Amino acid sequence: MPRTKKIPVAPPSFHVFGDLPLDVGLGIFSLCSPFDLVQLAATSKSNRTLIQAHEYLWESAHDNIARGECPRLPTRPVIETSGNYSQEAYVLWVFGGGPCSHCTKPTTSLPFHFLFRFRACSSRCEKILMSREHLYFCSAGQFDALAYTKGLPRLTEVNPWMTTHYAPLKAVKNAKHEANAATQITKFKNFSLRGHRPPAFCNFKRRTLPELEEEYLRRCNSRPVIEKSANELQDWRDLYLADFLVVSEANNAFVVKMAKDKQVKVTRLHDAPTMKGLVDAFNRDLELLTPHVWTQHAPKIFEELKDKPSGKNRCTLCNRTVSTLGLEAHMFDSHKDQASDLNTKGKAYCKHCPDSKRLYTREGLEEHRRVCHSGPLPPPQPWKRCPLCPARERRFKSVEGRAMHDRVVHGMP
Ligand SMILES: [Zn+2]
Ligand SMILES: [Zn+2]
Ligand SMILES: [Zn+2]
Ligand SMILES: [Zn+2]
Repeated sequence: MPRTKKIPVAPPSFHVFGDLPLDVGLGIFSLCSPFDLVQLAATSKSNRTLIQAHEYLWESAHDNIARGECPRLPTRPVIETSGNYSQEAYVLWVFGGGPCSHCTKPTTSLPFHFLFRFRACSSRCEKILMSREHLYFCSAGQFDALAYTKGLPRLTEVNPWMTTHYAPLKAVKNAKHEANAATQITKFKNFSLRGHRPPAFCNFKRRTLPELEEEYLRRCNSRPVIEKSANELQDWRDLYLADFLVVSEANNAFVVKMAKDKQVKVTRLHDAPTMKGLVDAFNRDLELLTPHVWTQHAPKIFEELKDKPSGKNRCTLCNRTVSTLGLEAHMFDSHKDQASDLNTKGKAYCKHCPDSKRLYTREGLEEHRRVCHSGPLPPPQPWKRCPLCPARERRFKSVEGRAMHDRVVHGMP
């Protein structure tokens, strides 16, 4: 049985929006896209409680993504294993973007392989991910003989001479370290796992051997549901992407028309943060931009364009005027040596990759160094960012702070 969660009592009105009556507010919420709903749930505890208490909102949000050939978002799998399969986590996983599973570069793309949970930033990374470098495979018999791989979701290839199972290599390694940790804890009382520290990518909960046995059983029971759900998502993705193309072309044409009307360069209009945010959100939800939306946001967009009068910026290092778009290239061509750490918009180049023009945020650089140069390893601190908060802009200062946030905002125990 899935664990039942205690749902707190929902407040009688949307008091965050003044005294908006409950039915009106719920009516509005029922028009949201899945990603909207996640963002709304993350804005305040009362919103989250309201959404949790009205489960049908998720249903309507899933319906609202249906458009043209694209059907509704498949319902999340309800399973008994531990692991994050909440509504929010499910929607974020599909629409929230994340790091490329190969090179860790942040990407807004959908996962391209739902069963393996792979997300790629480029077709090159996609190819590498579907190769030996990231996949584990062996005969079906071998795969199911090992306790720690038995419950893992897998892709099966049936040939007359042999049946092969495939799974992500990292998932297999994670499961292996998990089993080893349980042995260390139970048999050798090595609670700190001294000498058996799992690598940074491992993310298992520490269990004793009997606890792990129970978890294995739950995994085996949940596996068919997870595989079925992944297949549904995979089919849905093709149709979604086809419609995404249609919608984004239409929205692009709309922006071009508005730019002509107002006599602004199309690229400048596209670069205004509000415009960019609107286009991204509408494309993602397969919605068409309308004149009404435009009128509502135009004042803010022109405000932003005013701040950057001609699309030119002054380089802080040599005082030359450079076009906003060319600033990155200018920094690279003229100041690569002086300015390796302080650079455009707080981003920096990697000193160890002299030929790369890629700019990293501070964390991106740390991650890149860890992966590509395995230099001095900073300890991984996954608790610093909450994966459930859509923008993930908050950095937590302590584990306690994060735990508090999980309790208050996400209602975790
Ligand atoms: Zn990549
Ligand atoms: Zn300069
Ligand atoms: Zn580098
Ligand atoms: Zn959060």
